[in-house]
Amino acid sequence: MATSTTDTAQFVELVKGARHIAVLTGAGISTPSGIPDFRSPGGFYSDQRNSNVFDIASFRKDPSFFYDFARRFYPLLVAAKPNEVHEALAKWERAGKDVRIATQNIDDLHQRAGSTHVYPVHGTLATSTCLSCGQRIETRLLEADVLSGFIPRCDCGGVFKPDITFFGELLPDRVWEGAKEAMSEANLVVVLGTSLVVYPAAALPDFRPSGAPLVIVNREPTGLDRQADVVVRGDLGVVMDRVSRLV
Ligand code: ZN
Repeated sequence: MATSTTDTAQFVELVKGARHIAVLTGAGISTPSGIPDFRSPGGFYSDQRNSNVFDIASFRKDPSFFYDFARRFYPLLVAAKPNEVHEALAKWERAGKDVRIATQNIDDLHQRAGSTHVYPVHGTLATSTCLSCGQRIETRLLEADVLSGFIPRCDCGGVFKPDITFFGELLPDRVWEGAKEAMSEANLVVVLGTSLVVYPAAALPDFRPSGAPLVIVNREPTGLDRQADVVVRGDLGVVMDRVSRLV
């Protein structure tokens, strides 16, 4: 896919000039790490049988449906490694910029790349919480149970649910506030790998101050392209790697 050099050059200049950068990332940045995009055509949700895997009422009734899915999905997440996009954002932070990342992704690849201000607005798979007593535990400690076909349970007998936001649950409040604040304090907002169709996350760039430029890098057109100062179409890894070397 062709990438315009002019747009990339403008992107580089904006990053160089910005002290506070707020980033919104979506599935498109994790697919190169081997994590499937559930919403893509032909993806997970296009199969009707999967439509309520992430539904909280269904989970409470029978968590085995979710954990049958998790048995296939958890190993992909554990094996996934941060790619050029995650690395580039971590590098900006190491270079002294205030980089705050709101992500729709439930993996922890930003954190593993070294970014420290990450707001997972749809929750995270990194931890799980007992639905009965509220005990929180690292999900990787439950992985052996999940892979052996067990439903992971707490000492109290309750079922562990990953801290992903399921349909029917509220978004994590503090995380959402942090993401909004990151946008409202930014001198540059960068959207990476999301078509901006899932609300309320897609509305986050609207919280940027007037005058803060908006850059969108995505394979497909997005609903905010018209408002953006720079739109770069192309392979995210290639674009971010190039930008990263020039910044
Ligand atoms: Zn418990």
